[in-house]
Amino acid sequence: MENIQIHGAEVIIKGVPAAPGIAIGPVYLYSKQAVRAHRKPIEAGEVGPEIERLRGAVVKAEKELRKIVEFAQQKLDPDDTKILEAQIMILGDAILMGTIEKRIRAELENAEFIVFDEISKYKRLMLSAQDEYMHERAHDVDDVMNRIMRNIQDQKLVSRLEGEAVIVSETLTPADTIIFSRNKILGYATDLGGVTSHAAILSRALKIPAVVGLRTVTRHVHSGDLVAMDGYSGVLIVRPSDETIQMLHRKASRFKEFEERLTEIVGLSAETLDHKHIELSANIEFSEEIPFLREQGSAGIGLFRTEGLLIGRTSVPSEDEQYEEYSAITNETFPHTVIFRVFDVGGDKLAPGSFHEENPFLGWRGIRVLLDREELFLTQLRALLRASTRRNVRLMFPMISTVEEIRRARRLVTRAQAELDSRKLAYDPGIKIGVMIEVPSAAMMADRIAAEVDFLSIGTNDLIQYLLAVDRDNTAVAPLYQQFDPAVLKTIKMIIDAGHQRNVWVGMCGEMAGDPLATILLVGLGLDEFSVIPSVLPEIKKIIRSVKFKQAKRIAEKAIGMTSPEEIRSYLSSIIKDQIPDIPLEP
Ligand code: PEP
Ligand code: MG
Repeated sequence: MENIQIHGAEVIIKGVPAAPGIAIGPVYLYSKQAVRAHRKPIEAGEVGPEIERLRGAVVKAEKELRKIVEFAQQKLDPDDTKILEAQIMILGDAILMGTIEKRIRAELENAEFIVFDEISKYKRLMLSAQDEYMHERAHDVDDVMNRIMRNIQDQKLVSRLEGEAVIVSETLTPADTIIFSRNKILGYATDLGGVTSHAAILSRALKIPAVVGLRTVTRHVHSGDLVAMDGYSGVLIVRPSDETIQMLHRKASRFKEFEERLTEIVGLSAETLDHKHIELSANIEFSEEIPFLREQGSAGIGLFRTEGLLIGRTSVPSEDEQYEEYSAITNETFPHTVIFRVFDVGGDKLAPGSFHEENPFLGWRGIRVLLDREELFLTQLRALLRASTRRNVRLMFPMISTVEEIRRARRLVTRAQAELDSRKLAYDPGIKIGVMIEVPSAAMMADRIAAEVDFLSIGTNDLIQYLLAVDRDNTAVAPLYQQFDPAVLKTIKMIIDAGHQRNVWVGMCGEMAGDPLATILLVGLGLDEFSVIPSVLPEIKKIIRSVKFKQAKRIAEKAIGMTSPEEIRSYLSSIIKDQIPDIPLEP
């Protein structure tokens, strides 16, 4: 594969940088389907529990197989169930199991590895025979091995994650990212995914370095292998040399120094050298992030992704539960404002229904779900309205593609208000309502949409994928996902101008707002608000404070006249290098 280079003992794999930072440590290979052996030395005192675990796993595997046999006997030919019975016999093979236990004691290695090693030997022997029947039986042996190993792993999943590790996986869902982040995770590396996949956004928010789109990383590592990951340039190195490790340590400290210097500007406002004030706020999904964003100097929250409330639950939280959550957030943020985006389910986020969608990004997503599930929407609206009494709450609708959707959503807000009136519950009657512009049809209609709302917020993550027809999660087309495509810039300009014509402020809460390379351009296009992940807040503020609005306008005009993303990128990076050389840009 062209994204892999071999350099001495090192395997260097190039992917997409998804969250900045350097991570050096052992791999934990996270696999939902395939079972793999994780080799780990054990202490003499751990032998007893390890053998207990092995025996427990064998008993469980046998029970599972007996259940399947029972079921199969009703449905299958008796001949076919013989294969399963043969598997049960392997589990009961005293010699094989005795050898495995003996090896655990003698070699002081974990049960799953010895199971893997011993049964693989058995399997190789069978495969080397010139007999088709024996080859078939080798697959049975494989099945048995996987079954035992999976059962051992299930019992050990929690304890294995107690150490520090770089999680390597084919793909990570937002829920995986959150669950893992509760452990000591050094970094994430995945085969699939793009920079704006939801899990990548979460890694950045959680300040965990991540590289995605590595294509085959899961096939090049085993659990326990040492890897070095560079989340700035999007590279993962398997078995890094001492030299590479030192180089990455130096890089990490260079970036850290830069970040420390930025703390000086935390308390300052985001305004240009010629005093144009820009609203700089944060994107968050969990209330746990609020103290961090305050440390980073954010005035308010420009995007609170409420669908985070639904992760890991089987039912939607009640109005009261939601109210508690939202009001805790508004109280903590007061006197600054919070823009709550109503549940944006579907697409790459939580599936809204149990049915399969061929193309979820073009499917039942965002406002479409909420307009179809009025009760779900009304419950959330009532909870949000009840949390708005301090008048620092704004509402935002995701995935708007027509004016009519806004009208229908607003009618439901009015209905939720009437319901609260009848219950004599207070809310902010003048609550401001805005929409995300993230679908090309909404961008085209931005002027008429602006007439219906109080603000617009550009969601570039989705807007770019729909505009350029490039799935934001698809590795195969990741290089085509270009936020500096001239078509993107023209569309952003059109939206900002349309909002301003209607005296409506225009913000951006897509990841582009947090890209230091885009800051001057966006200031120059007249963007009023930047909502970014908390980790990049000081850097973006520093750039805003280093330019004049007049100059930024000229730069934006020049950039928008160019014809390729490469040209635009190199123009913008030359300006940063000249004018704000201490911003560490990545190629
Ligand atoms: C966007 O699409 O730009 C956005 C901010 O929404 P999300 O990433 O949650 O889809
Ligand atoms: Mg979106």
